[in-house]
Amino acid sequence: MSEIQLLPSVLAFLERDHANFIDGAYAPSLSSNKIAVVNPANGQVIAHIRDADEADVQAAVNGARQAFKGAWADMLPYQKGVILNKLADLIDANNEELAQIETLCSGKSIQLSRHFEIAQSAVFLRYYAGWATKINGETMQPSIPSFGTEKYTAFTRREPVGVVAGIVPWNFSVMIGIWKIASALVTGCTVVIKPSEFTPLTLLRIAELAIEAGVPAGAFNIVNGGGQVGQQLIAHRLISKVAFTGSVPTGIAVGQAAMAANLTRATLELGGKNPAAFLADVDVDMAVAGIIQTAYVHQGQVCASPERFYVHRSRIDELLEKLAAGLAELKIGSPLDESAQFGPLANKPHFEKMLGYFKRAAAESQIVYGGQAIDRPGYYVQPTVIRAHSAGDSLLHEEIFGPVTCFLPFDTEEELVELMNDSPFGLTASLWTNDLSKAMRLIPQIEAGTVWVNMHTFIDPAVPFGGIKASGVGREFGSAFIDDYTELKSVMIKY
Ligand code: NDP
Repeated sequence: MSEIQLLPSVLAFLERDHANFIDGAYAPSLSSNKIAVVNPANGQVIAHIRDADEADVQAAVNGARQAFKGAWADMLPYQKGVILNKLADLIDANNEELAQIETLCSGKSIQLSRHFEIAQSAVFLRYYAGWATKINGETMQPSIPSFGTEKYTAFTRREPVGVVAGIVPWNFSVMIGIWKIASALVTGCTVVIKPSEFTPLTLLRIAELAIEAGVPAGAFNIVNGGGQVGQQLIAHRLISKVAFTGSVPTGIAVGQAAMAANLTRATLELGGKNPAAFLADVDVDMAVAGIIQTAYVHQGQVCASPERFYVHRSRIDELLEKLAAGLAELKIGSPLDESAQFGPLANKPHFEKMLGYFKRAAAESQIVYGGQAIDRPGYYVQPTVIRAHSAGDSLLHEEIFGPVTCFLPFDTEEELVELMNDSPFGLTASLWTNDLSKAMRLIPQIEAGTVWVNMHTFIDPAVPFGGIKASGVGREFGSAFIDDYTELKSVMIKY
């Protein structure tokens, strides 16, 4: 088992005094409060970050406001698209450096960082860049007859909302950050990002690349620190929109704070307890490969991943047996080992939370596989499979956000729909069957923002993504994001 060599540029980057990125440059904070950034693979501190204070937040929002009214507003949509494409090229060109930094602070396997987090961030960015020249209003014919000879015409304009506060979680800090940065910049907004205090580093390097790509100073800023920095941003009177991704409790607090601040619009991409259903005709080998690929990737710390599994009673024993055998084959190791398939959880509080779930599973349900911490430095736990005793088992209902899957058999499709919808969440769901007409009849009955068939956790920039019920408000990707980052202005003309 061998780890890759860290690039000299990564080692030099870690040595820097990290704080914020404001008005086009690294900005040292006046705050004396330092936050340690810990490598979850070994528990060691790899860097420090300074917590932003109110003056830092003020400077970032002021810089963003100036760019919104000035340099970014002055650029043609075509130029904006060119710049975002250039940033995507620079992200690709620096893939290895960015992937190593991200793996060091998130515990994500280096292969996942390279080929998904960083490479796909560039893919998403290019998709958004394509929208730069295609954001238009409509013309319409006024409907009420005129009293005299005058005539009327009307049209709408899509105008950027202003400065966006983007608040990002720790699981995919680059990718989720890029979704917010790209949505804001391509619609003509400017943005201040608040990364998670657990994963604050990679976006700082991307901010430098943005300047190299031609993003004007102030259009893209970063303030680092804990939740209170997010609160200060949301409360700022010059913030016109909040784009938040994170947990349901924080999302509710963020939505309420945005509303109280200035009736500030907020989109909330929140948690889930995503169901996957395996019908009687399912190919069990395909199902097991699909579960390992989608529920255990990044140690299950993926909002869209399935966590609860309903399997037709005739197939569940075979499926669980093969799943346990498949998980036993997974190579567990350092995220810097290119051959490792399963690594540590992202941080200590999350690791401790997972041990709590294991205790609960042992007391309340049946642990089919795993259920223990792994005895090595860092925050490793076993990939785990649980069989619930009944639909009421609590682990079928709470978001775990880790490598823990929970199974229950079902008998009829009516029962299946009821079980799948028995959740406060509604982010994603999947149906696994070769009977397409059965799948087509079930899809409208499932309460989720995305339903996949014979696949799960597959996001694409062209396909809108977001939750219903407690999983959130608003959509990213496709053309759906445009509504959330622009105001619709109506213009009427008499002639
Ligand atoms: P949190 O809700 O704990 O944090 C999200 C972000 O909000 C972090 O940057 C956090 O800062 C910040 N924050 C914390 N408190 C406040 C506050 N009061 N006001 C403003 N900002 C605040 O989520 P996690 O980082 O733990 O991420 C995991 C959660 O994210 C899971 O529930 C997961 O399902 C969800 N998620 C949803 C996705 C979706 O698209 N629907 C995608 C990915 C994750 P800090 O970390 O520094 O405390």
